[in-house]
Amino acid sequence: MSAKIIDGKVLAEEVKQMAALAVQTLQQQHGITPCLAVLLVGDDPASQVYVRGKENDCAACGIASRVYRLPAQTTQAELLARLADLAADDTVHGILVQLPLPRHIAPDAVINAIPPEKDVDGFTPVSAGRLLRGEPCFVPCTPAGCLRMIEAAGVCAEGKHAVVVGRSNIVGKPAALLLLRHNATVTVCHSRTPDLAAVCRTADILIAAVGKAGLITGDMVKPGAVVIDVGINRGADGKLHGDVDFESVSAVASYITPVPGGVGLMTRAMLMLNTVQAAAAKTGCDLGFSVKNPVRF
Ligand code: NDP
Repeated sequence: MSAKIIDGKVLAEEVKQMAALAVQTLQQQHGITPCLAVLLVGDDPASQVYVRGKENDCAACGIASRVYRLPAQTTQAELLARLADLAADDTVHGILVQLPLPRHIAPDAVINAIPPEKDVDGFTPVSAGRLLRGEPCFVPCTPAGCLRMIEAAGVCAEGKHAVVVGRSNIVGKPAALLLLRHNATVTVCHSRTPDLAAVCRTADILIAAVGKAGLITGDMVKPGAVVIDVGINRGADGKLHGDVDFESVSAVASYITPVPGGVGLMTRAMLMLNTVQAAAAKTGCDLGFSVKNPVRF
Protein backbone atom coordinates (compact mmCIF):
# COMPACT_ATOMS: atom_id res chain seq x y z
CA MET A 1 0.00 0.00 0.00
CA SER A 2 1.16 3.53 -0.66
CA ALA A 3 -0.48 6.03 1.66
CA LYS A 4 -2.28 9.10 0.37
CA ILE A 5 -0.85 12.32 1.69
CA ILE A 6 -3.17 14.59 3.65
CA ASP A 7 -1.94 17.94 2.39
CA GLY A 8 -1.73 20.45 5.23
CA LYS A 9 -1.04 23.30 2.84
CA VAL A 10 -4.26 22.85 0.90
CA LEU A 11 -6.39 22.24 3.99
CA ALA A 12 -4.89 25.16 5.89
CA GLU A 13 -5.68 27.47 2.96
CA GLU A 14 -9.30 26.25 3.04
CA VAL A 15 -9.56 26.92 6.77
CA LYS A 16 -7.99 30.36 6.40
CA GLN A 17 -10.39 31.21 3.59
CA MET A 18 -13.23 30.25 5.89
CA ALA A 19 -11.77 32.53 8.56
CA ALA A 20 -11.36 35.36 6.03
CA LEU A 21 -15.00 35.07 4.96
CA ALA A 22 -16.07 35.13 8.59
CA VAL A 23 -14.01 38.29 9.13
CA GLN A 24 -15.87 39.95 6.27
CA THR A 25 -19.20 38.95 7.78
CA LEU A 26 -18.22 40.33 11.18
CA GLN A 27 -17.04 43.58 9.63
CA GLN A 28 -20.08 44.07 7.41
CA GLN A 29 -22.78 42.96 9.84
CA HIS A 30 -21.29 43.98 13.18
CA GLY A 31 -18.60 46.54 12.38
CA ILE A 32 -15.90 44.63 14.22
CA THR A 33 -12.54 43.35 13.05
CA PRO A 34 -11.28 40.36 14.99
CA CYS A 35 -8.03 41.15 16.77
CA LEU A 36 -5.37 38.77 18.07
CA ALA A 37 -2.81 39.95 20.64
CA VAL A 38 0.41 37.94 20.84
CA LEU A 39 2.90 38.28 23.68
CA LEU A 40 6.45 37.19 22.95
CA VAL A 41 9.01 37.38 25.74
CA GLY A 42 12.71 37.05 24.93
CA ASP A 43 14.49 36.23 21.71
CA ASP A 44 14.04 32.49 21.17
CA PRO A 45 14.61 32.18 17.40
CA ALA A 46 11.98 29.47 16.84
CA SER A 47 9.37 31.51 18.74
CA GLN A 48 10.17 34.54 16.63
CA VAL A 49 9.57 32.52 13.48
CA TYR A 50 6.27 31.17 14.85
CA VAL A 51 5.07 34.64 15.80
CA ARG A 52 5.95 36.05 12.38
CA GLY A 53 3.94 33.21 10.86
CA LYS A 54 0.95 34.14 13.00
CA GLU A 55 1.24 37.79 11.96
CA ASN A 56 1.27 36.74 8.30
CA ASP A 57 -1.74 34.47 8.77
CA CYS A 58 -3.67 37.25 10.49
CA ALA A 59 -2.89 39.62 7.62
CA ALA A 60 -3.99 37.02 5.07
CA CYS A 61 -7.33 36.54 6.86
CA GLY A 62 -8.02 40.23 7.55
CA ILE A 63 -7.55 39.74 11.29
CA ALA A 64 -5.85 42.60 13.13
CA SER A 65 -2.75 41.47 15.01
CA ARG A 66 -0.91 43.17 17.81
CA VAL A 67 2.43 41.62 18.67
CA TYR A 68 4.13 42.66 21.90
CA ARG A 69 7.81 41.76 21.74
CA LEU A 70 9.04 42.03 25.30
CA PRO A 71 12.66 41.76 26.48
CA ALA A 72 13.89 38.50 28.06
CA GLN A 73 14.30 40.23 31.44
CA THR A 74 10.57 41.15 31.60
CA THR A 75 9.33 40.15 35.06
CA GLN A 76 6.34 37.92 35.65
CA ALA A 77 4.55 40.87 37.30
CA GLU A 78 5.15 43.05 34.23
CA LEU A 79 3.85 40.34 31.94
CA LEU A 80 0.77 39.82 34.11
CA ALA A 81 0.13 43.57 34.08
CA ARG A 82 0.29 43.59 30.28
CA LEU A 83 -2.09 40.65 30.18
CA ALA A 84 -4.52 42.42 32.49
CA ASP A 85 -4.58 45.40 30.11
CA LEU A 86 -5.30 43.14 27.13
CA ALA A 87 -7.93 41.23 29.09
CA ALA A 88 -9.76 44.51 29.74
CA ASP A 89 -9.40 45.78 26.16
CA ASP A 90 -12.69 45.25 24.29
CA THR A 91 -11.00 45.62 20.91
CA VAL A 92 -8.82 42.54 21.58
CA HIS A 93 -10.67 39.27 21.02
CA GLY A 94 -7.91 36.68 21.35
CA ILE A 95 -4.78 36.61 23.52
CA LEU A 96 -1.87 34.25 23.02
CA VAL A 97 1.33 33.96 25.02
CA GLN A 98 4.07 32.40 22.94
CA LEU A 99 5.72 29.49 24.76
CA PRO A 100 8.30 28.72 26.01
CA LEU A 101 8.69 31.62 28.42
CA PRO A 102 12.02 32.52 30.04
CA ARG A 103 12.74 30.34 33.09
CA HIS A 104 12.01 33.04 35.68
CA ILE A 105 8.36 33.20 34.56
CA ALA A 106 5.92 30.47 35.62
CA PRO A 107 3.95 29.54 32.49
CA ASP A 108 0.90 28.35 34.44
CA ALA A 109 0.57 31.67 36.27
CA VAL A 110 0.61 33.49 32.94
CA ILE A 111 -1.71 31.15 31.05
CA ASN A 112 -4.19 31.23 33.96
CA ALA A 113 -4.38 35.01 33.59
CA ILE A 114 -5.87 34.79 30.09
CA PRO A 115 -9.65 35.22 30.27
CA PRO A 116 -11.36 32.05 28.96
CA GLU A 117 -13.33 34.05 26.37
CA LYS A 118 -10.02 35.24 24.84
CA ASP A 119 -8.15 31.94 25.25
CA VAL A 120 -7.75 31.19 21.54
CA ASP A 121 -4.94 28.69 22.23
CA GLY A 122 -7.31 26.72 24.47
CA PHE A 123 -4.57 26.31 27.11
CA THR A 124 -6.27 27.67 30.24
CA PRO A 125 -7.63 25.28 32.88
CA VAL A 126 -11.14 26.54 32.09
CA SER A 127 -10.80 25.62 28.40
CA ALA A 128 -9.20 22.27 29.30
CA GLY A 129 -12.00 21.53 31.77
CA ARG A 130 -14.65 22.39 29.22
CA LEU A 131 -13.03 20.12 26.65
CA LEU A 132 -12.90 17.33 29.24
CA ARG A 133 -16.59 17.81 30.01
CA GLY A 134 -17.60 18.01 26.35
CA GLU A 135 -18.76 21.62 26.67
CA PRO A 136 -18.32 24.37 24.04
CA CYS A 137 -14.77 25.65 24.25
CA PHE A 138 -11.71 26.77 22.38
CA VAL A 139 -9.94 23.58 21.35
CA PRO A 140 -6.13 23.76 21.29
CA CYS A 141 -5.13 24.46 17.71
CA THR A 142 -2.87 21.45 17.04
CA PRO A 143 -5.37 18.76 18.10
CA ALA A 144 -8.15 20.64 16.31
CA GLY A 145 -5.98 20.63 13.18
CA CYS A 146 -5.33 16.89 13.55
CA LEU A 147 -9.06 16.14 13.72
CA ARG A 148 -9.72 18.36 10.73
CA MET A 149 -7.09 16.42 8.75
CA ILE A 150 -8.63 13.08 9.71
CA GLU A 151 -12.05 14.29 8.61
CA ALA A 152 -10.64 15.73 5.40
CA ALA A 153 -9.35 12.26 4.55
CA GLY A 154 -12.97 11.13 4.72
CA VAL A 155 -12.30 9.07 7.82
CA CYS A 156 -14.88 9.10 10.59
CA ALA A 157 -13.32 8.61 14.02
CA GLU A 158 -16.49 7.10 15.45
CA GLY A 159 -15.98 3.47 16.42
CA LYS A 160 -12.31 3.49 15.44
CA HIS A 161 -9.44 2.67 17.77
CA ALA A 162 -7.34 5.80 18.05
CA VAL A 163 -3.89 5.69 19.65
CA VAL A 164 -2.28 8.96 20.72
CA VAL A 165 1.44 8.80 21.49
CA GLY A 166 2.27 11.66 23.86
CA ARG A 167 0.30 13.10 26.77
CA SER A 168 1.20 16.78 26.93
CA ASN A 169 -1.46 19.28 27.95
CA ILE A 170 -1.21 21.10 24.64
CA VAL A 171 -1.26 18.17 22.20
CA GLY A 172 -1.59 14.60 23.45
CA LYS A 173 -4.28 14.96 26.11
CA PRO A 174 -6.56 17.34 24.18
CA ALA A 175 -6.15 15.21 21.04
CA ALA A 176 -7.31 12.18 23.04
CA LEU A 177 -10.28 14.09 24.46
CA LEU A 178 -11.26 15.35 21.03
CA LEU A 179 -11.14 11.85 19.57
CA LEU A 180 -13.25 10.67 22.48
CA ARG A 181 -15.73 13.44 21.75
CA HIS A 182 -15.87 12.06 18.22
CA ASN A 183 -16.70 8.61 19.61
CA ALA A 184 -13.38 6.92 18.95
CA THR A 185 -12.06 4.37 21.44
CA VAL A 186 -8.89 6.02 22.64
CA THR A 187 -5.59 4.76 24.04
CA VAL A 188 -2.92 7.22 25.20
CA CYS A 189 0.74 6.14 25.21
CA HIS A 190 3.71 7.87 26.81
CA SER A 191 7.32 7.30 27.81
CA ARG A 192 6.39 4.57 30.32
CA THR A 193 4.26 2.54 27.91
CA PRO A 194 6.02 -0.87 27.93
CA ASP A 195 5.40 -2.09 24.37
CA LEU A 196 4.66 0.98 22.29
CA ALA A 197 4.91 -0.90 19.00
CA ALA A 198 2.27 -3.45 20.03
CA VAL A 199 -0.19 -0.74 21.07
CA CYS A 200 0.42 1.32 17.93
CA ARG A 201 -0.23 -1.74 15.75
CA THR A 202 -3.82 -1.82 17.07
CA ALA A 203 -4.55 1.74 15.92
CA ASP A 204 -6.93 2.60 13.11
CA ILE A 205 -5.94 6.21 13.74
CA LEU A 206 -2.45 6.92 15.06
CA ILE A 207 -1.37 10.37 16.26
CA ALA A 208 2.30 10.81 17.11
CA ALA A 209 3.09 13.81 19.33
CA VAL A 210 6.37 13.00 21.02
CA GLY A 211 9.29 15.01 19.70
CA LYS A 212 11.51 12.08 18.66
CA ALA A 213 12.37 11.91 14.98
CA GLY A 214 11.39 8.67 13.27
CA LEU A 215 10.06 7.02 16.47
CA ILE A 216 7.10 5.46 14.63
CA THR A 217 8.24 3.01 11.98
CA GLY A 218 6.32 0.97 9.42
CA ASP A 219 6.39 -2.21 11.50
CA MET A 220 4.48 -0.33 14.27
CA VAL A 221 1.57 0.58 12.03
CA LYS A 222 -1.54 -1.43 11.19
CA PRO A 223 -2.08 -1.78 7.43
CA GLY A 224 -4.55 0.87 6.31
CA ALA A 225 -4.21 3.06 9.40
CA VAL A 226 -4.47 6.86 9.26
CA VAL A 227 -1.24 8.34 10.62
CA ILE A 228 -1.04 11.94 11.81
CA ASP A 229 2.46 13.22 12.54
CA VAL A 230 2.57 16.14 14.97
CA GLY A 231 6.28 15.97 15.74
CA ILE A 232 8.63 18.73 14.68
CA ASN A 233 12.28 17.79 15.09
CA ARG A 234 15.22 19.69 13.65
CA GLY A 235 17.68 17.13 12.28
CA ALA A 236 21.45 17.33 12.10
CA ASP A 237 20.87 18.05 8.40
CA GLY A 238 19.09 21.27 9.43
CA LYS A 239 15.78 19.96 8.03
CA LEU A 240 12.50 19.35 9.86
CA HIS A 241 11.53 15.76 10.59
CA GLY A 242 8.39 14.31 12.09
CA ASP A 243 8.00 11.62 14.73
CA VAL A 244 6.98 9.24 11.96
CA ASP A 245 9.41 7.53 9.62
CA PHE A 246 7.63 8.69 6.48
CA GLU A 247 9.10 6.18 4.07
CA SER A 248 8.37 2.97 5.95
CA VAL A 249 5.02 4.14 7.35
CA SER A 250 3.66 5.41 4.05
CA ALA A 251 4.18 1.90 2.67
CA VAL A 252 1.67 0.57 5.25
CA ALA A 253 -0.76 3.37 6.13
CA SER A 254 -3.76 4.47 4.06
CA TYR A 255 -3.29 8.18 4.85
CA ILE A 256 -0.32 10.08 6.26
CA THR A 257 0.54 13.70 7.01
CA PRO A 258 3.92 15.05 5.91
CA VAL A 259 6.43 17.09 7.92
CA PRO A 260 6.81 19.85 6.95
CA GLY A 261 3.57 20.70 5.17
CA GLY A 262 1.22 18.90 7.55
CA VAL A 263 -0.06 19.51 11.05
CA GLY A 264 2.08 22.62 11.62
CA LEU A 265 0.24 24.59 8.93
CA MET A 266 -3.11 23.39 10.25
CA THR A 267 -2.20 24.52 13.76
CA ARG A 268 -1.68 28.04 12.46
CA ALA A 269 -4.91 27.98 10.46
CA MET A 270 -6.99 26.75 13.40
CA LEU A 271 -5.69 29.68 15.46
CA MET A 272 -7.24 32.02 12.90
CA LEU A 273 -10.56 30.21 13.21
CA ASN A 274 -10.45 30.32 17.01
CA THR A 275 -9.74 34.07 16.87
CA VAL A 276 -12.67 34.67 14.57
CA GLN A 277 -14.86 32.58 16.84
CA ALA A 278 -13.75 34.62 19.86
CA ALA A 279 -14.86 37.81 18.09
CA ALA A 280 -18.09 36.24 16.85
CA ALA A 281 -18.99 34.98 20.32
CA LYS A 282 -19.19 38.61 21.47
CA THR A 283 -21.77 39.44 18.82
CA GLY A 284 -23.86 36.28 18.79
CA CYS A 285 -23.18 36.26 15.04
CA ASP A 286 -23.78 32.92 13.33
CA LEU A 287 -20.74 32.32 11.15
CA GLY A 288 -22.02 29.10 9.71
CA PHE A 289 -19.63 26.94 11.66
CA SER A 290 -20.20 25.76 15.17
CA VAL A 291 -18.41 27.10 18.22
CA LYS A 292 -19.76 24.11 20.07
CA ASN A 293 -17.93 21.67 17.91
CA PRO A 294 -15.20 23.61 16.14
CA VAL A 295 -13.76 20.75 14.13
CA ARG A 296 -17.08 20.00 12.44
CA PHE A 297 -18.15 22.92 10.36
P1 NDP B 1 6.10 17.22 25.25
O1 NDP B 1 7.59 17.08 25.41
O2 NDP B 1 5.38 18.12 26.17
O3 NDP B 1 5.45 15.78 25.35
C1 NDP B 1 6.02 14.68 24.72
C2 NDP B 1 5.27 13.43 25.09
O4 NDP B 1 5.88 12.33 24.46
C3 NDP B 1 5.25 13.12 26.58
O5 NDP B 1 3.96 12.79 26.99
C4 NDP B 1 6.21 11.95 26.71
O6 NDP B 1 5.85 11.04 27.75
C5 NDP B 1 6.04 11.28 25.39
N1 NDP B 1 7.22 10.47 25.05
C6 NDP B 1 8.51 10.82 25.13
N2 NDP B 1 9.29 9.80 24.72
C7 NDP B 1 8.47 8.79 24.38
C8 NDP B 1 8.67 7.48 23.88
N3 NDP B 1 9.90 7.01 23.66
N4 NDP B 1 7.60 6.71 23.65
C9 NDP B 1 6.36 7.17 23.89
N5 NDP B 1 6.10 8.43 24.34
C10 NDP B 1 7.15 9.21 24.59
O7 NDP B 1 5.90 17.63 23.75
P2 NDP B 1 4.64 18.35 23.01
O8 NDP B 1 3.40 17.56 23.20
O9 NDP B 1 4.63 19.79 23.32
O10 NDP B 1 5.13 18.22 21.48
C11 NDP B 1 5.34 16.95 20.90
C12 NDP B 1 5.95 17.16 19.52
O11 NDP B 1 5.02 17.87 18.72
C13 NDP B 1 7.23 17.99 19.49
O12 NDP B 1 8.04 17.54 18.43
C14 NDP B 1 6.74 19.39 19.18
O13 NDP B 1 7.73 20.18 18.55
C15 NDP B 1 5.62 19.06 18.24
N6 NDP B 1 4.57 20.08 18.17
C16 NDP B 1 4.11 20.35 16.93
C17 NDP B 1 3.09 21.25 16.77
C18 NDP B 1 2.59 21.50 15.40
O14 NDP B 1 1.92 22.47 15.17
N7 NDP B 1 2.85 20.59 14.45
C19 NDP B 1 2.51 21.98 17.90
C20 NDP B 1 3.01 21.56 19.18
C21 NDP B 1 4.01 20.63 19.28
P3 NDP B 1 5.87 11.43 29.31
O15 NDP B 1 4.64 12.21 29.55
O16 NDP B 1 5.86 10.10 29.98
O17 NDP B 1 7.13 12.20 29.52
